[in-house]
Amino acid sequence: MSARPPTGDTWPENADTWLQHGDAQEGDSAIAPPIHLSATFRAADAAGFADMASRPRHPRYYTRYGNPTTERVAGLIAGLEGAPAGLMTASGMGAISAAVLAMVSAGDHVVAQTNHYMGTSRLLGDLLVRMGVAVSFVDQTDVSAFEQAIRPQTRLIVLETPVNPTLALTDLAAVADLARRRGIRTLADNTFACPLNQQPRRFGIDLVVHSATKYLGGHHDLTAGAVLGDADLIEQVWNTSIMLGAVLSPQDAWLLLRGLRTLSVRVERINASALRLAHALAAMPGVAAVHYPGLPSHPQHDLARRQMSGFGGVMAVQVRGGYRGAEAVMKRLRLFAQAVSLGGVESLAVHAAAMWAGSLDDEALRAAGIAPDLIRLSVGLERVEDLMADLAQALAPPG
Ligand SMILES: *Cc1c(COP(=O)(O)O)cnc(C)c1O
Repeated sequence: MSARPPTGDTWPENADTWLQHGDAQEGDSAIAPPIHLSATFRAADAAGFADMASRPRHPRYYTRYGNPTTERVAGLIAGLEGAPAGLMTASGMGAISAAVLAMVSAGDHVVAQTNHYMGTSRLLGDLLVRMGVAVSFVDQTDVSAFEQAIRPQTRLIVLETPVNPTLALTDLAAVADLARRRGIRTLADNTFACPLNQQPRRFGIDLVVHSATKYLGGHHDLTAGAVLGDADLIEQVWNTSIMLGAVLSPQDAWLLLRGLRTLSVRVERINASALRLAHALAAMPGVAAVHYPGLPSHPQHDLARRQMSGFGGVMAVQVRGGYRGAEAVMKRLRLFAQAVSLGGVESLAVHAAAMWAGSLDDEALRAAGIAPDLIRLSVGLERVEDLMADLAQALAPPG
């Protein structure tokens, strides 16, 4: 029996088996995968060398072009996303920049969301614009805004759902449909959901990107990125990625493979803990608002239930007392480490306005949806009662 990639609209149960066996290599008796720490590979003869040098994505030619360990993890993640092909990069931004730059040229137009991961916003609003690509930013919660922004030159629509840090959602099926009818490509950053909770390709999205630094790696010990899609598009992205050079090291590809083995148990637990915490936080007196797609109070909860099978471990909490109030809560947190990133085994917290105070003024912060009192939590694998107690003491200190 061979492992099948997970499919279906509910929690993909066969992901459990896929994650252990989906990357099995015929003829290799090793239970744990080898690490191919080699930058270059020997050809058998002149004809073999010519083949290696000319075949796109050859896994045994030169590691910037491909590597057996890296290819193994790419196939495993592609299967989780229901994609025929995958490409690994050194970071999530390596994946997003390679995918976007592969799809557009000067004179083209891109539609994106007003809110994105900050690196993506800068790639689109700064680098692309400097390269002569026009970009329109629209309210992701309004499908008609995407439609109205489309021009004859529109080549690509960039989506991210749930979005950082406000947890607003984009209707993947609706945007994919209006793009497809016009021959426009769609790209979705699926980092915040992770492939077990949401598979954008099932809604018609062409390219899915991940910061594998987050849930996929899951241990806050590596940076990696992935692009998943049809083989012809992935080959196009690969052609750009070998110029940009953000190549994933085989050592980190191996560490990512190690992290992926436990993805389904980690995410199952994180989903459950985060939902309990979100409900508990919403009832705490020091809390002004909790933004989490799994809460019925989320304005797009119905959409969340339609396109997600679990709601992930990230939530945005607005606390009472404004910027200073949030600062005080951060100071009192003990189990939640004050650190960027998310999706790992340890719980983390970020005071979003403090993170961006050095680079964005108040108006830019508001435009990015970053309220001064907003704390982004990433729920890890600690005992949920301990996390709840930590938040309770930080929000309402005794005395
Ligand atoms: C972290 C993150 C990125 C960037 O990934 P890196 O691995 O840090 O380069 C992109 N998108 C989202 C949603 C992220 O959370």
